[in-house]
Amino acid sequence: MTAHVKPKALDDFKARDFRMLIDGMWTDGAGNALERVAPGHGVVVSRYPAGTKADAERAIAAARKAFDDGPWPRMTGAERSNILLKAADLIAAKADELAFLDCIESGKPISQAKGELGGAADIWRYAAALARDLHGESYNTLGEGTLGVVLREAIGVVSIITPWNFPFLIVSQKLPFALAAGCTTVVKPSELTSGSTLLLGEILIEAGVPAGVVNIVTGTGPEVGAPMTTHPDVDMVSFTGSTGVGRLTMANAAQTLKKVSLELGGKNPQIVFPDANLDEFIDAAVFGAYFNAGECCNAGSRLILHKSIAADVTARVAELAKKVKVGDPLDPTTQVGAIITPQHLAKIGTYVEGAAKAGASVALGGTALDLGLGQFMAPTILSGVKPDMAVAREEVFGPVLSVLTFETTDEAIRIANAIDYGLSAGVWSRDFDTCLTIGRKVRAGTVWMNTFMDGASELPFGGYRQSGLGRELGRHAVEDYTETKTLNMHMGARTGWWMPR
Ligand code: NDP
Repeated sequence: MTAHVKPKALDDFKARDFRMLIDGMWTDGAGNALERVAPGHGVVVSRYPAGTKADAERAIAAARKAFDDGPWPRMTGAERSNILLKAADLIAAKADELAFLDCIESGKPISQAKGELGGAADIWRYAAALARDLHGESYNTLGEGTLGVVLREAIGVVSIITPWNFPFLIVSQKLPFALAAGCTTVVKPSELTSGSTLLLGEILIEAGVPAGVVNIVTGTGPEVGAPMTTHPDVDMVSFTGSTGVGRLTMANAAQTLKKVSLELGGKNPQIVFPDANLDEFIDAAVFGAYFNAGECCNAGSRLILHKSIAADVTARVAELAKKVKVGDPLDPTTQVGAIITPQHLAKIGTYVEGAAKAGASVALGGTALDLGLGQFMAPTILSGVKPDMAVAREEVFGPVLSVLTFETTDEAIRIANAIDYGLSAGVWSRDFDTCLTIGRKVRAGTVWMNTFMDGASELPFGGYRQSGLGRELGRHAVEDYTETKTLNMHMGARTGWWMPR
C-alpha cells in the first residue's frame, strides 16, 4: 500500500466545494457530492454535485429557452465576439488558478497544465474572430428572376461532453465555437476533473454571457450525459471521449436524429526512415509517447521503424526515456505526472502483461512506480511488437510505446493503416517524396512531417474511421455548429406548373 505524502504546496490547500451552473444560478443539484482524490497526491481536492437526470433536464430547458427567446442567438457577431474576447482575457488572467486545478485533479504536470491554458486562451480568441466572419453564400447566377442565398444559422441547443485528460483544453475546443455560432449549451465535464470547467462558468458570467446560454452539469455519464444525448430539445451533441461511449452517444442521438460530432481514440503511428534526422526524432518519440503520461488521444504510441535502424533507434529512445522526470505533478520540473485512477493504472499493466505473453519484449519500464505519492507508471517500451497484437491495435492510454518494424514504404503504410483508428500519424524522412507519399496514403486526420503533436487553433483536428466524426478547430469549426438554410427568392412573373405560359 502506497503511503501518501502530502506535498508542501498543498499544506494550506483545502478541498474546494463546487456548485453547478443552471440557468445562470449556482446550484447544489439534487444528488450527493462527488469527491475527487488527486491522482498524484492521494488527498481529496474537489467536491462537485452529483447531478441527476432531472438536473440535466433543467439545464436543457434553460438552454432551449435561451436559444428560442434569449438575446444570444440574436446578437450581432461583433457583440458575441466582444464577449468571447473578454472571456479569453479572463482565462489568461486566471490561468494559474485554472492550471492548478487541472494539475491536481488530473495528475498532469503543472508546467504542462499552464501551457494548455495558454493554448486554450488562444482558441477562445480565434473563435471570437470567427464569430464576426460566419457567413453563407449567394448565387446571382440562377437567372434574372432568381437570387439564391445560403444562410448559416446557429443549430440550436448543443450538448458538450468532455473527458478527463485535457479538462480545460477540450472544452475550449468546443464551447467557444458553439457560442460564436450563436448556440446555447449544456456542458458535462468528466466527473473526475470538473473543477476548471466550473470555474469557466464563473468566467463566462463575468464576461457577459447571458443566463441559460452556458449551463454546466456535473455528475456521471450514465446519469447526466445520457439524457444530454437523447433529449428531443437538444439539436447537436459534441462529444470527446472513448470510442465505446462515442458509439453509444451516436446510437442514442440517432433516436431523434441529432447532429453528432465525435472526437475519439487513436493508435497513432510514427513511421521512421533511415534518412531521417534521428536526433530530432528521438526527442519527438519520447515526447509523443510520454506527454500527459500517454493519456492522450494523439499519443504516438506506435513506432514503425525501418528494420535497418530499429535496434539502434529503440536503444536511443530508451536512453532518453530513462531521463524523463516522472513525479509530483506540482513540481515545476516534472515531465510526466500521475495516472488518472488506480483502475486505469491496472488496465495499463494488463496491456503490458498481455504483450509480453504474446511475445513482445519489455525493453524499458513495464511496471508501476511507487513514489510515495498517488499512482504512477514507468515510461515503458515494448519491442518486437507485431501488428496483430492487442497492444499494437488498441488504445492503451498510458506511457507505453510499441515498436514495430518495416522494410518497404508500402509495408509501412499497410501497418499504419491496419487498425480501426485514424486520428493522427507522423513521418520522419529528409526525402520530400517519402513524406508526401506517407502523408497522402496514411488514413488519419492529421499527418505530421518531421515533427509530432504540434497544433494551432487554425488547423482542423479530428479523426478518420473509429477516431471520430467531424473536425474541431480551424475556420470550419464554427460552421459545424450551424444549419444551412437556402433562401430561394423570386422576382417577377413565375412560370406556372399546370398552365405553362
Ligand atoms: P469516456 O468515454 O469514458 O468519457 C468521456 C465523457 O463521456 C465523460 O464525461 C463521461 O462521463 C461521459 N460518458 C460516459 N458514459 C456516458 C453515456 N452513457 N452517455 C453520455 N456520456 C457518457 O472517456 P474518458 O473520460 O475515459 O476519456 C478518455 C478517452 O477519451 C480516451 O479513449 C481518449 O482517446 C478519448 N479522447 C479523445 C480525444 C480526441 O479528441 N480524439 C481527446 C481526448 C480524449 P464520466 O466519465 O464523468 O462518467
